Amino acid sequence: GSDVEVDPGVEVDEENAEDDLLGGLKIDTTEDIEVPDRLVDQVIGQDEARDIIIKAAKQRRHVMMIGSPGTGKSMLAKAMSQLLPQEDLQDVLVYHNPDDGNAPKVRTVPAGKGEQIIDAHKEEARKRNQMRSILMWIIIAIIVGYAILTASILLGILAAGIVWLIFRYTSRGTDAMVPNMIVDNGDQRTAPFEDATGAHAGALLGDVRHDPFQSGGMETPSHDRVEPGSIHKSNKGVLFVDEINTLDVRTQQKLMTAIQEGEFSITGQSERSSGAMVQTEPVPCDFVMIAAGNLDAMENMHPALRNRIKGYGYEVYMEDTIEDTPEMRRKYARFVAQEVERDGRLPHFTRDAVEELILEAKRRSGRKNHLTLHFRTLGGLVRVAGDIARSEDREFTTREDVLQAKGRSRSIEQQLADDYIERRKDYELQVAEGGVEGRVNGLAVMGEDSGIMLPVMAEIAPAQGQGQVIATGQLKEMAEESVQNVSAIIKKFSDVNLSEKDIHIQFVQAGQQGVDGDSASITVATAVISALEDIPVDQTVAMTGSLSVRGDVLPVGGVTHKIEAAAKAGCDTVIIPKANEQDVMIEDEYEEMVDIVPCSNISEVLDVALMGEPKKDSLVDRLKSITGSALDHGAVG
Ligand code: ADP
Repeated sequence: GSDVEVDPGVEVDEENAEDDLLGGLKIDTTEDIEVPDRLVDQVIGQDEARDIIIKAAKQRRHVMMIGSPGTGKSMLAKAMSQLLPQEDLQDVLVYHNPDDGNAPKVRTVPAGKGEQIIDAHKEEARKRNQMRSILMWIIIAIIVGYAILTASILLGILAAGIVWLIFRYTSRGTDAMVPNMIVDNGDQRTAPFEDATGAHAGALLGDVRHDPFQSGGMETPSHDRVEPGSIHKSNKGVLFVDEINTLDVRTQQKLMTAIQEGEFSITGQSERSSGAMVQTEPVPCDFVMIAAGNLDAMENMHPALRNRIKGYGYEVYMEDTIEDTPEMRRKYARFVAQEVERDGRLPHFTRDAVEELILEAKRRSGRKNHLTLHFRTLGGLVRVAGDIARSEDREFTTREDVLQAKGRSRSIEQQLADDYIERRKDYELQVAEGGVEGRVNGLAVMGEDSGIMLPVMAEIAPAQGQGQVIATGQLKEMAEESVQNVSAIIKKFSDVNLSEKDIHIQFVQAGQQGVDGDSASITVATAVISALEDIPVDQTVAMTGSLSVRGDVLPVGGVTHKIEAAAKAGCDTVIIPKANEQDVMIEDEYEEMVDIVPCSNISEVLDVALMGEPKKDSLVDRLKSITGSALDHGAVG
C-alpha cells in the first residue's frame, strides 16, 4: 500500500536512539538522507490527515482540513493530486459559434489532443491566408498593369490600395476559425493542482475579457477572450482553497453549483464589460475540492457549501504538535533534507545544525516531550540559516548559522513585542523596585509566539449606588469575570462588601491587538486584593494564570513565551499555574535570570507576590483556611 513508512535510507544506531537528538540516525550531514519522491511520503506527522487524503484520492471525495497555518494542508492537497489517475486528463477548447458570436462552443478532448487540433486549424488558416494573398497580389498586379496601359496611375494606386485594405480587413475572419485552448494538459505528468486561495471571482470561476473595440469590426472574437478559472483548470485534479470563508457568499454559492454540476459556463464577471454579454457552453470542472481554514473559518463559511463537502467527503483536523520519539526526530532530520532539496540552493546541514533545529522544534511545541508541527516557520528557519551559510560560501550549514538565523527569523509579533518593550523602557514602565499597592505585572501572549508583560492596576473607591467594575477596552469582560471570581473569595474572609465599591481596573498600555486576556485573571485578583487590603505587591514578580471561583489557579497557554518576556523585562520571579509546570521550556539564557514558582491556589500566589510581612501573613493564613477546602477538593477530583 501507499501508506508504508518510508525510512530515510540511512543506518540507525538503535541502542542510543532514545538519547540521541537525531534518533540515532548515523549521518554527518543531511546530504546522507534520502528524500522520498512522492509528496505524500514527505509529509511528517498528520497521520490521520494523510490516511484520509490517500483514501479520498481513491474515492475522489472532497476534504475539509481544519488547523493552524503551515502544518501541511496545501502540501497534502498537492500530494493528493499526485495520487489521482493521470489518464483521465482532458484538454478544453473554445470555438467560435457562427450562429451566435456571444455563445462560444466548448469541446473536450483527451489530454494532448488539443494541441494537434490547434495545429491543424492553424495550418488550415495559414494555407487559406496564403491563397488569399496570392489572389490579392494577382488582382493588384492586374489593376496596376491596366493603370500603366491606360496611363491613369493615380486611379490605379487608389484601386490597388482599396483591394489591399479589403483583403487585410477580411482576413480576420479566418483567425476566428482557430479555437482557443483554455485548458492544456498536454505536458501534464500528474493530475492538476490549483491553489485558489484568495482568488477573486474571475480567477476562480473563469472570465471573458473586455473588448475595447467591441463594435466596428476590429474586435477580438469572443471565444478568444474566454479565460478559464481555477475550477476549470483543476478539472480531474485538485482544487485547493484555504481561508475558504473569505470568499464572498455569491462566489461560494457558484462554487457549490460547480461542484454539483461538474461543469460551469464561463461568462464575463464584471457586469458592465462587454465580456458580460458572452456566455460559453458549460466547461467541465470535475475537481476534488480541498477546503481549508482554521476553526473560525469553518464556522463562518457558507453552511450549504460546508454541508456539501461534509456530506460527500471527509473532515479532518490537523495536529499542532506530535510526541517526541526517536523515529519522529529522524523524520525531522529528513525534513531538513527535504527543505534543502526543495530550495535547491541551500547548503546541506551538519549534524549539530540539525540538532539545534530539533531543539527549536521541541521548544516551539510548548509541550513537554512534543515537537511542533508548524513546519512553515520551521522551514523558514532552515532557509534563513542556509542563506547565511551560502552567503559565506560554506559547504555546509552549521549550528552557528542556525543560532544566528533564530535571531533573524523572529516573527512579526516577536519583533513587535521586542520593539514595544524597547519603547516602554524609555518610559520606565518596566519593572520598578519595591512594592506598589494594587499594581501587578501580568503576562500575555501576542500573536502566536511572543510573550509580553502587561501590568494591571486596581483601584477601589466607594460607590455612589450599586458598585461596578470599571475597565476599558477589549479586556473589560475578562476583568469583570475575574473580579466576580475574586469577590466570591473575598466575601468569605473580609468584611468589605465588594458590591458597594467601584473597582477600577486599568491595563497599563494595553490596547494592543492580539493580547489574550483569559490568562490574566489571577493578575486582576491579586491587584484587587492588594488594593483592598492596602498590601503592596512585589514589583519584581510577574504572573500568569486563570482563577476559579474556589481560588484554584488554572492552566493557561504560552507559559514559555510569557516567562521569557518576564525575564527580558527584568523580573526575578514568575508565578505560573502548577498544571503548566511541564510546559516550561525556556532557553538557557533565561533560565538563570528568573525563578519559576508554580502555584495551584490563590493563597500561594499572594504569599509570593505580596510584601509587608505581618499583614500579608495574616491575609494568606485567612485565605488558606477558606480556600483549603477547595484545595482538598481539587486533589481528590
Ligand atoms: P498550510 O497549507 O497548512 O498553511 P503548507 O502545506 O503550505 O501549510 O506548508 C508550508 C510548507 O511547510 C510546505 O511546503 C512544506 O515545505 C512544509 N510543511 C508543512 N507541513 C509539513 C508536514 N506535515 N511535513 C513536512 N513538511 C511540511
